[in-house]
Formats: sequence, structure tokens, C-alpha cells
Amino acid sequence: MPYTDKTLQCMECAQDFTFTALEQEFFAGKGYTNDPKRCPACRDQRRARNGGIGSGNGGSAGGRTMYTAVCAQCGQPAQVPFQPRGDRPVYCSSCFAKSRAST
Ligand SMILES: [Zn+2]
Ligand SMILES: [Zn+2]
Repeated sequence: MPYTDKTLQCMECAQDFTFTALEQEFFAGKGYTNDPKRCPACRDQRRARNGGIGSGNGGSAGGRTMYTAVCAQCGQPAQVPFQPRGDRPVYCSSCFAKSRAST
């Protein structure tokens, strides 16, 4: 039976999302019989919350969460892809590039 894309509604953010034929095939291959209840974004968020840090590279191409920190070098706000913990300095992209170039 060929799969076709279908539109589902996320129970978390109430957005419509596409459950693609490819994903349906993947789900069926895993033995899942239920449709996903959350959109990919909410699924990622849940996984990030549950799995914590260091879960490796899953290879999912989605928007990643950026955190705002203060650059230890110039004091400008810096966007970093990890949660700043305060135990190591955070640099903005230009200072980071500079420190990389000098070492
Ligand atoms: Zn959602
Ligand atoms: Zn800086």
C-alpha cells in the first residue's frame, strides 16, 4: 500500500504539520501504528528536554535553539548554540573568530 502525505495537527502547539509518506514508512518500519501527535519541532523540543545535552548528532536538519549570552571579550550580546553555564567564557562570533585566528 503506497503511503501519501497527510496533514496532522500537533497536540502541543496546535499547528498543522505534514506527516510525509517517507515518515509514515519509517514509522511503520519501526512498528509504530499510531500517528505522531506532535509536529517535528515540538518532538525535537521534547527530545531536547528529555535527553539533555550530549545526545550526539542525530542529523536532523531543523532550526536549533540559540541562547543569548554576554561576550566575555567585548561585552556584546552573543548568540551561542549551547546553554551558557557560566563555567567557561562565551564569545560573540567576531571575538571567537579573532581568538581562533590568534591561536
Ligand atoms: Zn507542535
Ligand atoms: Zn565579542
